[in-house]
Amino acid sequence: MMAERPEKYCAVCGRRMVWRRRWRRNWENVRYCSRACRHRGLSDLDRRLEAVILELLRMRGAHKTICPSEAAQIVAGRRSANDWRALMPAARKAARRLVAKDRVDILQKGHVVDASTARGAIRVRLRTET
Ligand SMILES: [Zn+2]
Repeated sequence: MMAERPEKYCAVCGRRMVWRRRWRRNWENVRYCSRACRHRGLSDLDRRLEAVILELLRMRGAHKTICPSEAAQIVAGRRSANDWRALMPAARKAARRLVAKDRVDILQKGHVVDASTARGAIRVRLRTET
């Protein structure tokens, strides 16, 4: 294996960022994985998605999971049936940011997976110390 390089998480998409040479002078201050993430930033809606994910998980109880779509539907409200679908990418990003903050895990088929690379349907579970 290669020697381990420093890692951190993108403040917007929540994906892992591994140290790159071009960041050598300002690694301490790097917050975004890409220009797209830096430009996008975080909105109130993004923060609300994070809060609703945690709220849903607390209501559901220990060791239970939710689908990010449940949070998307709540945040979208009842304006239109399609609104929440448009929020799904943001809901997945919110779930990944919560992984980066050690608050939740992302699962597929009942197993914890790497949130940075998981594709397809995911479930979210509160991270517990045990
Ligand atoms: Zn990013």
